Amino acid sequence: MQEYQQYIGGQFDAGAAQFDSIDPATGAAWARMPAASVADVDRAVQAAEQAFFASDWANMTASQRGKLLSRLADLMAENAQRLAELETRDTGKIIRETTAQIAYVAEFYRYYAGLADKIEGAHLPIDKPDMEVWLRREPLGVVAAIVPWNSQLFLSAVKIGPALAAGCTVVLKASEEAPAPLLEFARIFDQVGFPPGVLNVITGGPEAGAALTSHSKIAHVAFTGGPETARHIVRNSAENLASTSLELGGKSPFIVFEDADLESAVNAQISGIFAATGQSCVAGSRLVISNKIKDQFLARLKEKAEAVVIGAPNDMATEVGPLCTKAQRDHALALIKASTEAGAKLMTGGTTPDGPGYYFPPTILDCSDSPNAPCLSQEFFGPVLSVISFDTEAEALAIANDTKFGLASGVFTQSLTRAHRMIRGIRAGIVWVNTYRAVSPIAPFGGHGLSGHGREGGLQAALDYTKVKAVWLRTSDDPIPDPFVMR
Ligand code: NAD
Repeated sequence: MQEYQQYIGGQFDAGAAQFDSIDPATGAAWARMPAASVADVDRAVQAAEQAFFASDWANMTASQRGKLLSRLADLMAENAQRLAELETRDTGKIIRETTAQIAYVAEFYRYYAGLADKIEGAHLPIDKPDMEVWLRREPLGVVAAIVPWNSQLFLSAVKIGPALAAGCTVVLKASEEAPAPLLEFARIFDQVGFPPGVLNVITGGPEAGAALTSHSKIAHVAFTGGPETARHIVRNSAENLASTSLELGGKSPFIVFEDADLESAVNAQISGIFAATGQSCVAGSRLVISNKIKDQFLARLKEKAEAVVIGAPNDMATEVGPLCTKAQRDHALALIKASTEAGAKLMTGGTTPDGPGYYFPPTILDCSDSPNAPCLSQEFFGPVLSVISFDTEAEALAIANDTKFGLASGVFTQSLTRAHRMIRGIRAGIVWVNTYRAVSPIAPFGGHGLSGHGREGGLQAALDYTKVKAVWLRTSDDPIPDPFVMR
């Protein structure tokens, strides 16, 4: 069994208690992880606060912060393959994906390294002759960053990058499922030369999460996870009145019109729902398909879904690996059962193979005659596609927007005018036209409704880790006149 340590105030320790991390490919424990106690959480927050107010970090120039982030980007790039292998081992995400994704994570740190000294204040043309008034942008303070196990290096980079660029300090809580990549990331971060306490990395479940998000010294909670946990976090933030940004789940529509390039749309749909074994918040999990091409499209999709290579996540040939946890597999099976009972037709997949590991095959449910099937409204977080068909563009838009989520969407059409109408009409934080699942550090990412609020990525995300201080400086040497008149 490998042993991992938590990272608090620049020191590593095994924590007061430990838990096992399970290899999803075998179902067997492979590593011991530290479980942060409430006291550990407090230590981590105190270390972050100390670093924020009373360390070299507090007096560092923005350009120096940028240089440290740049060094972190270099180290992430150098260690990408090792981190990819670790994430594959602990989460079951296939090595083809972790290799590409983690190499790209370095670019997120590089982007925010460059932004650190471009976060500017402003000078105001104030309406008083003897005053200079300007705005300083100052860091929010100690940030609690909470992430799930999936894409954890990416999801923490889009929090740590802008938070440190802005001058905040961070306590990052990794998930109680598969936290090895983030604990290893702490070791890499430690080599950069940041003052101790600028980043602290702990693990643990709801108890540690609640202690962190309700802590009196937390200024902002940056959360990625499910809507139910987000409700706890918002309640917890009633204690410290911290601001929150919430990146939650989705039930994203993938809309294909009859004039689409069908081969391209089929490939994008395969990747949109089966990549990451469907464990993606932006999964295109609702195929909204024109009745004019439905049969042809589904036949091609089924053929490709059945040809997908299912296998060990560390094999470069594998296209779909295991789900991360047994609980997810049970959830997917239960939701498929409830949906077929409600009339959804199982086109392929739906049953799990015998043997060890949490494998789950690509699955397609046709709900064209069962619009109330729960698979159309509930997130699977697994490789399960629900299909619903339409006759008109207005119907397609109504189906796309018939969701409490609002994260991502895809539109496949050759018509420029229709594409624009759909872009305007779709209620989601991302619209991909004739493509799907593209990300960049330069583009903001996030949703609304049950998908949360706030944006990660892009310039605005760095500004969101700052608060504005208005400074008034009187330029007159004359004594202040009548003290009872408002200036
Ligand atoms: P989850 O909500 O169960 O857990 C997320 C994190 O919250 C974990 O670190 C967990 O320990 C912590 N947590 C649990 N209870 C808490 C509490 N009471 N207080 C504070 N923290 C607490 O999510 P999950 O099942 O690990 O991840 C899957 C979910 O994440 C899906 O809904 C998925 O769509 C979503 N997700 C969203 C995005 C996005 O960017 N929008 C990205 C990836 C995943």
